[in-house]
Amino acid sequence: MTEKKPIGYKWLSCGKIHYPKHGRCLQCKYQEFEEVELPSEGSLVTYTMLKAPPTGIDKFSLYLGIIDLGTVRYTGQLEVESDKITLGMKLKSTWTKVREIDGKPKYGFVWIPT
Ligand SMILES: [Zn+2]
Repeated sequence: MTEKKPIGYKWLSCGKIHYPKHGRCLQCKYQEFEEVELPSEGSLVTYTMLKAPPTGIDKFSLYLGIIDLGTVRYTGQLEVESDKITLGMKLKSTWTKVREIDGKPKYGFVWIPT
């Protein structure tokens, strides 16, 4: 497991951090930003179950959640057992294989209980 951290986008004009990236800041409409490391731990704000994952994901369903990292709310894939998932639970990011496309592994962040 690596120490890779999630990345957010900090607007140079107002300091607001967004994730995912937008063409313009949603707050001040300025276009220039820099990448910043985000905290790798947060709490679950809400979640939904995706019943038809995209091609290359070897699962019948998966959870997508919004994780409050303090400076920003991050949308990501969760790896939590269905009987353990609760709003407000503490999660941390891991960098792992999330799907396979044309036989090649694709990596991304998955959020797991701390
Ligand atoms: Zn802004």
